[in-house]
Amino acid sequence: MFVRHRAGSLEAVVTRARWRNLAVTGGVLLLLVATLGALLRFTRNAQRLAQLQMEFIANVSHELRTPLTALYTAGHNLRGRVAQQPAQVERYGEMIQQEAGRLKELVEQVLRFASANAGRVIQEPSPVEIGKIIEGAIGASRALLQTAQCAIETHIEPGLPEVMADAQALQQALHNLLTNALKYGAGNDCRVRISAALVKNGGAPEMEVSVADRGPGIPEDEQGRIFDAFYRGKRASQDQIHGAGLGLNLVKRIVEAHGGTIRVRSAPGEGAEFILRLPLAAVSAAS
Ligand code: ADP
Repeated sequence: MFVRHRAGSLEAVVTRARWRNLAVTGGVLLLLVATLGALLRFTRNAQRLAQLQMEFIANVSHELRTPLTALYTAGHNLRGRVAQQPAQVERYGEMIQQEAGRLKELVEQVLRFASANAGRVIQEPSPVEIGKIIEGAIGASRALLQTAQCAIETHIEPGLPEVMADAQALQQALHNLLTNALKYGAGNDCRVRISAALVKNGGAPEMEVSVADRGPGIPEDEQGRIFDAFYRGKRASQDQIHGAGLGLNLVKRIVEAHGGTIRVRSAPGEGAEFILRLPLAAVSAAS
């Protein structure tokens, strides 16, 4: 008589069990490797962020100390009557105004970053004229424009429709881009071009606003990181160009909060162009 267990021969049972154990062990191992990889990536990102934050604190302290020293010295000289001629007093007055303006801008930038982190990137958007926003941004950059001796060219297509925006936040975003164009693009024959035109994104029309300078541009390996909070390019640190590394991060957050996009186009030696796409008021209202 031949008797056979329902599970098959002993050898087959052992082989099946072995394969099952092997599969389970392989799965656990794979899970372990994936977890380890994720942990490593997370640690590296956390380390990079901590490093950037430390650099930010050092940088902001330095940025605060420079104008404070200038203000202290100017006050000291005026009070001690070191400067007595009207022209000298005028120069010190101008210096105090300039340095105080720089301090104010820096503190406001940090406050805006904190409020964006708390979730208040923009207020309720409403239909606004892009031309007026551009005018406002140029007006807010007047002091820097004079210092940098830069010419501004505006090209605003006539008859443009309104965009759906928080006017103040959008003006701030354009002001940040303009400030950067003047800070990094200044030099011989400094020119900054701001343009606004209607473009098609698939079927829907959108507003395209661009801010372009003719400076040295942004190295390719930095272009992917310039929108990160606290990030500053190599040249910014080397040439001690003022800044806290928050400007472009704020611009990106403001544009994205409007449902828009931002990208950069730059080649070394050929300047940098920041291109914003924003939804139109009529399209937003219809959707
Ligand atoms: P900050 O200007 O305070 O450094 P931003 O966030 O505004 O911070 O810019 C991040 C970096 O991007 C800058 O440090 C600089 O390296 C680079 N960058 C921004 N705008 C320009 C520009 N127009 N030309 C060249 N480099 C730029």
